[in-house]
Amino acid sequence: MISKLIWRIIYYTMKKDIHPKYYPNAKIQCACGNTWTCGSTKEFIEVEVCSKCHPFYTGKEKIIDAMGQVQKFRKRLARKEEMKKRKK
Ligand SMILES: [Zn+2]
Repeated sequence: MISKLIWRIIYYTMKKDIHPKYYPNAKIQCACGNTWTCGSTKEFIEVEVCSKCHPFYTGKEKIIDAMGQVQKFRKRLARKEEMKKRKK
């Protein structure tokens, strides 16, 4: 008869084998070209935004761009409204 403790050891060792390898210096690369290291189970990670290029951190530039898109959308909407009025 196997005791609970042995079962626990077997379970632990099995779990340890399944567990992916941990890379303490995994490389993370952003779409903007920024790279940094971080502990991860993957050796190399690619991300689309990071703290250097995310609008929340970079501030002005991208927010202005987003505002431009909003204005474009409003213009398009206004044009549609005009078309509706013309049809009547
Ligand atoms: Zn980035």
